[in-house]
Amino acid sequence: IILRVWFKNRQKTFHNINQKDVMQRLQSGRHFLQIPGPTNVPDRILRAIERPTIDHRGPEFKGLGLELLESIKEIFQTKQPVIIYPSSGTGAWEAALVNTLSSGDRVLMYDTGHFASTWRKLAEKLSLDAQLLHGSWREGAKPEEIEQALVEDKDHTIKSVCVVHNDTATGITSDIPAIRKAIDRAGHTALFCVDTISSLASIDYRHDEWGVDVTVGGSQKGLMLPPGLSFNAISKKALVASGEAKLPRSYWDWQDMLNANKQGVFPYTPATNLLYGLRESIRMLLEEGLDQVFSRHSRLAEATRAAVQAWGLELNALNQSEYSNSLTAVVLPQGHDADVFRKWVLECFNVSLGNGLGRLNGKVFRIGHLGDFNEPMLLGTLGAIEMGLELAEIPHRPEGVRAAMSNLVENNR
Ligand code: PLP
Repeated sequence: IILRVWFKNRQKTFHNINQKDVMQRLQSGRHFLQIPGPTNVPDRILRAIERPTIDHRGPEFKGLGLELLESIKEIFQTKQPVIIYPSSGTGAWEAALVNTLSSGDRVLMYDTGHFASTWRKLAEKLSLDAQLLHGSWREGAKPEEIEQALVEDKDHTIKSVCVVHNDTATGITSDIPAIRKAIDRAGHTALFCVDTISSLASIDYRHDEWGVDVTVGGSQKGLMLPPGLSFNAISKKALVASGEAKLPRSYWDWQDMLNANKQGVFPYTPATNLLYGLRESIRMLLEEGLDQVFSRHSRLAEATRAAVQAWGLELNALNQSEYSNSLTAVVLPQGHDADVFRKWVLECFNVSLGNGLGRLNGKVFRIGHLGDFNEPMLLGTLGAIEMGLELAEIPHRPEGVRAAMSNLVENNR
């Protein structure tokens, strides 16, 4: 009650004074960026990025380029080439399609959530014939449905199967090895493209071992970098397909990239300072060890879910085996607006939570627990959420933080 009165009084003050100034004065301490990407950028990376920009065709840059193009492979768990674009993740989505397909080609996509359906819209704009297998947005891609669609495609007119590994809108992770097996069981020749934008460097992902042809990645989530870099890890089969693909491409052309990359440079001006950051990010991830990175994400995600369940709120993900370890999407009880709740949390406690996207707008909020993140940061986030639930008068049991703490103690023993 005291908090609610304080907040309401403060809201009144905002009407009289310039709101932005007040926010800046009142919100001391560090902002908690707990959306599921962009994520918190650690100081080591910020310091790496702030170095002066160098000549991107000079000898020093070539050393950086060669080092990065080799070391990034470890993050994708591949020995094959990884293309680095100065773009957001959407660019890498487009690159994966224009390099491997021709106008009118059929593409099989699975509607796991907002990001899968956005990728499909992009494919249609590129004049591809995108076929969407419908999903509930509460479960992952179903391998048996993909297998069935491929078995029915006797003439192999489907040229690519595209799946989002971790749909950031729904908090659901699909089983990529199981989908690979389904494609193989169908005896189909389609390429397999996977979006790992919100799973790379936070949830185990193996480009080579899992037989993926094009893996799409982005800088602003598990890699702990600002937005602005994106990736295509490519298989030999994808490279062969790129030789036959007819969709127009210039900026995204793999071949121009691969030719320049042999010398450690890029065909156009790279995002040099983000590349400094990428070098630091890879060093940090490898120092911690990828296995430890994945288990830290798993631990923090489990504690988050323990809190949600203790509050008596509903997880958007229905199946335990598909719970995302990089974010949790929480469904609010009917009649409560998730965006109003998020506003309380932001304005009172300086914590940004993710909004519901697409058809989940207003119905869910999302807790990002990926990237440079640890137990005290999680507890701060969960504490702000628990107070926000009370302020927004959302029915819940005030036991979430306690449950998360017990879970973390158990998992750290
Ligand atoms: N795919 C997924 C799974 C995402 O989470 C996002 C963005 O959050 C995208 C694609 C689009 O990437 P970007 O916004 O960097 O263009």
